[in-house]
Amino acid sequence: MILETRAVGPFFKNGFVLGCEETRQGILIDPGDEVADLLAAVQAHELSIRYILLTHAHIDHITGVGAAKKALGVPVGLHQADNFLYEAVAQQGLMLGVRADPQPAVDFFYEDEGPWRFGQYGAWVYHTPGHCPGGVCLAVGRDGSTARTLFVGDTLFAGSIGRTDLPGGDHATLLRSIREVLFKFPDDTVVHPGHGAPTTIGIERRTNPFVGSDPGLEFRAR
Ligand SMILES: [Zn+2]
Ligand SMILES: [Zn+2]
Repeated sequence: MILETRAVGPFFKNGFVLGCEETRQGILIDPGDEVADLLAAVQAHELSIRYILLTHAHIDHITGVGAAKKALGVPVGLHQADNFLYEAVAQQGLMLGVRADPQPAVDFFYEDEGPWRFGQYGAWVYHTPGHCPGGVCLAVGRDGSTARTLFVGDTLFAGSIGRTDLPGGDHATLLRSIREVLFKFPDDTVVHPGHGAPTTIGIERRTNPFVGSDPGLEFRAR
């Protein structure tokens, strides 16, 4: 699979270009302020993008949607429970002291797990609320293989977990999403978080201090 990751300031949020080596079809995940870099990667790989898929609707993950949609002319998908955040991107910006323009309306809400296909690959959608109500994880796999690569938004990070103090966030719900959805994947599953470096399910299962194996543990995320 073709995989390109880009991030720029101020949020250093990861945006992703995924592509099928054979058919050159692809998808964009979470285009933000780095959208020009993502579109350059699309061109460099001569990809034909089919969808723009969003893990959630916090400002840093959506500020490039309008530019990406204008350049690519493809539909944008989001979980419906995050549409109130998507439509309030300008207000999200005010809270953070940055200017953010409204983005074009979402084209479809994830109504089932998919998959959303690009060439030999598919992206399956798993609802993982907690960081926000409509957070999802995208599990990408190739035809004929059960292996998946996870794009988890801000639910899980290398050595940390997503914050839950923003509107619609809930700590217990986040821990349940991580334990009951993400940790169902095998240890060697590669995880691409919305910020920072990739990790694996096994590393986080063993060493992430905020998750723990005991459901009674109540560590607080910073
Ligand atoms: Zn977020
Ligand atoms: Zn983020």
